[in-house]
Amino acid sequence: TPTMEKHSFQTEVKQLLHLMVHSLYSNKEIFLRELISNAADAVDKLRFQSLDNSELIAEDPDFKIRITTDEQAGTLTISDNGIGMSKDELIANLGTIAKSGTADFLSKLSGDQKKDANLIGQFGVGFYSGFIVADKMTVVSKAAGSNESFSWSSQGEGEFEIEPSDKAGRGTDIILHLKDSEKEFLNDWRLRSIIGKYSDHISVPVQMLKPAEPAAEGEDPKPSTEFEAVNKATALWTRSKSDISEDEYKEFYKHISHDFTEPMSWAHNKVEGTQEYTSLLYIPKNAPFDLWNRERSRGVKLYVQRVFIMDDAEQFLPVYLRFVRGVLDSNDLPLNVSREILQDSSVTQSLKNACVKRILSLLEKTAKKDPEAYQHFWEQFGNVLKEGLGEDFSNQQTLAGLMRFSSTHTDSAKQDVSLDDYVSRMNDGQDKIYYITADSFETAKNSPHLEVFRKKGIEVLLLADRIDEWAISHLSDYQEKKLVSVTQGDLDLGELENQEEKEQREQLEKDSASLIERFKAVLGDKVKDVKVTHRLTDSPACVVSSEGEMSAQMARLMAAAGQ
Ligand code: ADP
Ligand code: MG
Repeated sequence: TPTMEKHSFQTEVKQLLHLMVHSLYSNKEIFLRELISNAADAVDKLRFQSLDNSELIAEDPDFKIRITTDEQAGTLTISDNGIGMSKDELIANLGTIAKSGTADFLSKLSGDQKKDANLIGQFGVGFYSGFIVADKMTVVSKAAGSNESFSWSSQGEGEFEIEPSDKAGRGTDIILHLKDSEKEFLNDWRLRSIIGKYSDHISVPVQMLKPAEPAAEGEDPKPSTEFEAVNKATALWTRSKSDISEDEYKEFYKHISHDFTEPMSWAHNKVEGTQEYTSLLYIPKNAPFDLWNRERSRGVKLYVQRVFIMDDAEQFLPVYLRFVRGVLDSNDLPLNVSREILQDSSVTQSLKNACVKRILSLLEKTAKKDPEAYQHFWEQFGNVLKEGLGEDFSNQQTLAGLMRFSSTHTDSAKQDVSLDDYVSRMNDGQDKIYYITADSFETAKNSPHLEVFRKKGIEVLLLADRIDEWAISHLSDYQEKKLVSVTQGDLDLGELENQEEKEQREQLEKDSASLIERFKAVLGDKVKDVKVTHRLTDSPACVVSSEGEMSAQMARLMAAAGQ
């Protein structure tokens, strides 16, 4: 037909399609979760738009998702009466991947099925997962408020086609032409059990045809034409905690986060009184591929009185908690709230404070109860949490308690020493927490600055992550113990030095006076001062920066940044 257009998938889509179909095959039923999740999102978006413009849904006000099959044609269809897609949206949403960092992510895929499945899970599988079970997908869609509809179809290889269609009502039909080997997904019972497993918490009814009436004698059973909801269809967070199973919480997380792996932990709270809200906040198990991008979309899904308002409401969480996912349902915000209003609202501020407290105490609980899980969390998100030391002074001590470091106690690169561990091991008379920063763990560990500490058996934290220097510079003390860099200023070991050592040192200083003068004369302006040190035991000399001045590591960082 002359109106049919052929388009090529973006290169990244082609690569992802190919890899996904192969690496997710052992988990193929998740395609249905993904497509129902998209349908529910489409309904949420339209429900929100209709707050301002009720015309949009006047003809068909009851939101629903329908799953139907056609045995003869071998198709499975997921239909919704949500927001729908225009022609341009079909091309953009189902032909490209908009996430930044996609190419980078794809280059990490190795061809090892198991590893790739995990990575793709972190990336988010989404719409294209339909091609795990279908050799052709057709999407017929009519955007709410439009009278045009279009059909998109593809065999999941290089290209897709678009042509005008004549869909009656608004919304989207996703038609999967099942591969011969995947005909099990035509089976009513199989579909119901998958929906029960993955989509019970979806707040829109997911409907299927009622089972056929048993046939009277001598007649064929009459297929039913009536639909029934097969999911619970109540928003999960509105239910009471005791009614919700672990699996339901986990599935709900996958729906809202677009993450494929289970969350590490969550906190579900209903608050009544001067402020009324429900929060359900999750800490993921694994970092998403673009965690390092501070601009990536982040935040919680915001509802007001159970009506979906927006995704990625970042106003409720600080940047250093950008890995947190969840839902916030407020009774105190207006339904027509915008991002601008949120920005200045006092309700936002107090909800944000509450969310931060919940997350931090959830992390404290995990750290105490399940150190292994916490260690995994730390390896995934520790460097993001460290940003909090410099960004959130009101929670700084709590955050400090959540930090994990390498230290000379184990001399291992594994960051598993907390400040509490450190403090509990402090020597008699020690009143400071010592650390060293360097640009690699090996450099930190082998620094001559550590010699005297090792000799005296004083533990030193070994900090070598890029952010450490900046983060630790904001933490002046923990439990009233000052944090001190071993490379900075006069090393005052205070009570840790005994009388005999003190006398020895003073004698040495006297004896070396003329040597020091010669050093100063030779080095001239290149140094500020030359001193006798007692921080070294094996090395002859080292460079230190004076108190309050940039440390050597910070100076190197600034130089590298061109400053
Ligand atoms: P994600 O859901 O993570 O955004 P998907 O790959 O699942 O990614 O979907 C891609 C995009 O296609 C969605 O963001 C949405 O804009 C659009 N889309 C998919 N399914 C539907 C649908 N049933 N109705 C409207 N838009 C849809
Ligand atoms: Mg999706």
